[in-house]
Amino acid sequence: MAISSGFNPEESRRKYLSAAVASAQLRYERANPTSLNLFQRAKTVMPGGNTRSALYFDPFPLYISRSWSATVEDVDGHAYLDVLGEFTAGLYGHNDQRLAKAMADTLGRGISNGAPSSSEIELAELICDRFPGIERVRFCNSGTEANLYALTLARIATGRQKIICFSGAYHGGVFMFASGGHAMNAPFDWTVCRYNDTVQVSEAVARIGTDLAAMIVEPMMSNGGCIAATRPFLVALRALASSVGAVLIFDEVVTSRMGEGGLQGIHGVVPDLTTLGKYLGAGLSFGAFGGRADLLDRMDPTHPGALPHAGTFNNNSLSMAVGAVGLRTIFTPQRAAQLYSDGESLRTRLNVAAQEAFADIQFTGCGSVMNIHFTSALIQRPEDLVDEDECLFKLFHLEMLEDGVYAARRGQINLSLPMTGEDFSRIETAVRRFLHRHLDLLRAARPVLEDTANAR
Ligand code: PMP
Repeated sequence: MAISSGFNPEESRRKYLSAAVASAQLRYERANPTSLNLFQRAKTVMPGGNTRSALYFDPFPLYISRSWSATVEDVDGHAYLDVLGEFTAGLYGHNDQRLAKAMADTLGRGISNGAPSSSEIELAELICDRFPGIERVRFCNSGTEANLYALTLARIATGRQKIICFSGAYHGGVFMFASGGHAMNAPFDWTVCRYNDTVQVSEAVARIGTDLAAMIVEPMMSNGGCIAATRPFLVALRALASSVGAVLIFDEVVTSRMGEGGLQGIHGVVPDLTTLGKYLGAGLSFGAFGGRADLLDRMDPTHPGALPHAGTFNNNSLSMAVGAVGLRTIFTPQRAAQLYSDGESLRTRLNVAAQEAFADIQFTGCGSVMNIHFTSALIQRPEDLVDEDECLFKLFHLEMLEDGVYAARRGQINLSLPMTGEDFSRIETAVRRFLHRHLDLLRAARPVLEDTANAR
């Protein structure tokens, strides 16, 4: 390889990227003065103006004033196609009249009744019918709480402490493994393994043996970059957990929207416990954990010595009633299958666009949840993404906004039920425009040898 003096493609790429980001940011700041004002006000009373880390992005987030169907409108009057979709909790889109009616009916009957209601039975029946691994279910208020309960139940039921989880995973505000772990995490006895690495996890299970209480895994890592587990990996986890009597927990907080019964249904791999959240409360706060009857029945209050499961809002009337209407009448098994295949075909279209442009880009994911990545190399686990340049995500995000598409800063795209074929085309068009504006940059997203670059 000849190293010549003079033109340095990597340096020139860096300069181009910094200039493009600076200019996109300037345009963003100019276009959003009201959001900026609100952000300045928020900073005086909340740390960094923020009360939910995922919603902060620099230089400041957009403040949304109203929403309808698959559209959100910000306080400066810009309307966007909402592909952030409340990080998948917004499956039903905005202001669905059937859900609004269910909400109004529930409000009319009173919402702090301090008693069980028939809605919670209906929602529990719908969930138990759909998810192969759920014989009994309990409700709580968030996905984080659901995982806390599932892990605690597994530890008590097995009388063991050790838990296997996967590097890069996110299971809630106190279960973050992006860099292997986090000081904020619940102080459980974690062993962090590599996602989609059957050999490594088999070794860990052999080492820990009958001290292993549980393995917790997302069948597609969503926050970790929308990386799907392979079916053989999930099958191996199932066999490994059974071999030592540990509890296999599928965190389907995000992936429960894949088809009628989540990714456990699609792959035919049945966990012992499943955790749920997000869209199942139809946009209201929601969490659930369910699974094998013998495990959940440890919480049966008619049994002596039952484990307590407290929570003022576990069965809050709105989440229960509206969640049940959503699942029964809107997100039917047929509609779930359709959304899954719509997502698969959109992701294919976006990847074809990247290939046609010879861009070092790909969209990973599963069904209606996908993420852009600035590499064309194989992605099996978050470790394959450590070289990704944050500036590229920032540029993509700011320019998608400029094109009227509201995505997540980390490049995640989540589809919702009101979206039409036109909306999918709009996403594709915005992505194609981004690719063509920055072709040279995106063809060299990874460092290239100088002589290769010159050959282009
Ligand atoms: N598990 C996964 C896979 C998630 O994506 C999330 C939320 N992003 C959670 C758990 C936590 O859910 P919540 O935000 O409702 O606590």
